[in-house]
Amino acid sequence: MQKGTIGVTSENIFPVIKKFLYSDHEIFLRELVSNAVDATQKLKAVASSGEFKGETGELRVTITADEKKGIITVSDNGIGMTEEEVNKYINQIAFSSAGEFLDKYKDQLSNIIGHFGLGFYSAFMVSKKVEIQTLSWKDGAEPVKWSCEGDPSYEITKGKRKERGTDIILHLDDESKEYATEAKINQLLNKYCKFLPVDIAFGRETEWKDGKSVETGKDKIINNTTPLWTKKPAELKDEDYMNFYRELYPMQEDPLFYIHLNVDYPFNLTGVLYFPKIKDKIELSRNKIQLYCNQVFVTDSVENIVPDFLTLLHGVIDSPDIPLNVSRSYLQSDANVKKISSHITKKVADRLEEIYKNDRKSLEDKWDNLKLFIEYGMLTDEKFYERAEKFSLLKNSDNKYFSYEEYRTAIEPSQTDRHKKLIYLYATDIHEQFSFIESAKNRGYDVLIFDSQLDAHFINLLESKFKESSFARVDSDHVDKLIQKEEKEKPAISESEEKDIASAFEAVLPSGSHYSVVVENLGETDAAVLITQSEFMRRYREMSALNGGMNFYGSLPESYTVTVNFNHPAIKKILTEKEEKLSARVNEIDAKLTSPKETLEKFNEKIKGIKDEDMDKADRDERERLEGEIEKVKQERKDLMAGFGKENQLIRQVCDLALLSNGMLKGEELNKFVKRSLSLIS
Ligand code: ADP
Repeated sequence: MQKGTIGVTSENIFPVIKKFLYSDHEIFLRELVSNAVDATQKLKAVASSGEFKGETGELRVTITADEKKGIITVSDNGIGMTEEEVNKYINQIAFSSAGEFLDKYKDQLSNIIGHFGLGFYSAFMVSKKVEIQTLSWKDGAEPVKWSCEGDPSYEITKGKRKERGTDIILHLDDESKEYATEAKINQLLNKYCKFLPVDIAFGRETEWKDGKSVETGKDKIINNTTPLWTKKPAELKDEDYMNFYRELYPMQEDPLFYIHLNVDYPFNLTGVLYFPKIKDKIELSRNKIQLYCNQVFVTDSVENIVPDFLTLLHGVIDSPDIPLNVSRSYLQSDANVKKISSHITKKVADRLEEIYKNDRKSLEDKWDNLKLFIEYGMLTDEKFYERAEKFSLLKNSDNKYFSYEEYRTAIEPSQTDRHKKLIYLYATDIHEQFSFIESAKNRGYDVLIFDSQLDAHFINLLESKFKESSFARVDSDHVDKLIQKEEKEKPAISESEEKDIASAFEAVLPSGSHYSVVVENLGETDAAVLITQSEFMRRYREMSALNGGMNFYGSLPESYTVTVNFNHPAIKKILTEKEEKLSARVNEIDAKLTSPKETLEKFNEKIKGIKDEDMDKADRDERERLEGEIEKVKQERKDLMAGFGKENQLIRQVCDLALLSNGMLKGEELNKFVKRSLSLIS
């Protein structure tokens, strides 16, 4: 029997292990099973080199648990260890490497949440005592038993293993007893060990017999030793990729496309990535990629390892070259991680470009579900934008898809305005903006559909990338003003008359928003009244809403332009009616203006050249009185017009129609409109 003290730098390694790795205690099982798998693979290696001449038998790792006693055993029939090796690997190297590790990172221990292999000693995170029973493959080797009770002293005695291999026996501490339950072990094996390259046995197979499940006596193998990504792409069919996806994500819809990654220089990486369907709810798709290291599951949070937008992909990446035993913030600056990131980005772009070139139809079919991912990539990754602008598609209101280049060529002849600017028209809701889309189409223009949650940002991006172009939502003004071909003639109407119309219309528009009424010459077939919201205002509001904060523009009331179509018969009728009914009153009111206006003029003549502060108080009062008088008369005219507006069925009707075609007429107002319409036609 040998007794000794394990050579660690820190006497207190056990408390440190327990305390700082708290959040990740469960990885102990992954570490022990991986060691066991390594041991079987090392045996294979010595066998194939001819050093080991015996039978390797069926190599496997077996986990057993005694829930009552709180014992977990991880057994393998791998290479085993001699006493000398136990001394070297367990007492010196393993312990000292754990010690070194803790020493090196002790400053940042508290922010290491990550996953690093503390290897064998992670067993002490959950155990009060750990035992090793091992027998080396070497001829004449003696079985060895090692045991340690969670302090730096250990004991080595003669062991009792008869067959080649190793048992690691954990006597769980009181807080960790739960780990010996069948459910917990199944959960951990399923999480970490599902794709290990050697059979992992836990429990027994069961089958249904006479209406109940009974054990068959056969070991249950919990893993798939040759997961899809380890196979050659040439041996695989589409169906295999889909099946593997379903195995990884049983509850998800089938993905759109996949990529099989296979790199061996300048780093090692294999894997399969899937493009999931993402219609909205970006966050739900995030962080589904599983990261493996030689088929051992490491993590499913790959941020900092792949660019942000790629975290939307699903699938598996397996690389021994991603340093897993360091803090996450360190990862970003790691040269291998950078190379891996740009490699994956490139592969993703290659694959999409290939589909664009060879299978355009399928890209179009899947575009609506793929678009958000691509837009996200283009918005966040300049390099990806440069690639994606060649295969990215635009969809129009007739559900036709175009490449950027195709679309520009298609609209250039008709949608270039008189300042040589190319105007891209778009709609965000094909139903709500229907009438605007129609009137654009009637002009021979095309309207794109931008309806995804990133589009407000994406349109800004495209506008900054496309030369001499701008984007306008179809309902942001009359289409002839959005794409101005020639200077429009102003309507033959005096300024005061335009003001009258504004007063009459403003009186019937719903309160709560701000409306500025203008009179324009639109076509006779155009609507009588058009309600629009300027592109600039709307985008500003959208952006500030998206960015979470309400800034100055966001806090203003909604503001609309109301264009009254001077050419429309209904408007002509309103104007005639106004003329007939009100011209006498208007003249009367106007007459009241003549005197104060003349007096004010004279008065202004008199005080010309005198600065305000040098004026007599009496003079100032006089001026104020005259101005007030004029204002009062103007207000009288305004009130007259507002009264006319409120009384006038036709004004209400044309305004409600405009609100209605914008989806802005609701509730009580909508009800009134319906009643009024019925009474007008009956
Ligand atoms: P690592 O696996 O990173 O080398 P560990 O602390 O997990 O570090 O293990 C230390 C060493 O102990 C291993 O390299 C191996 O030589 C030996 N070892 C651990 N578990 C086994 C096992 N089940 N069979 C044979 N050797 C083992």
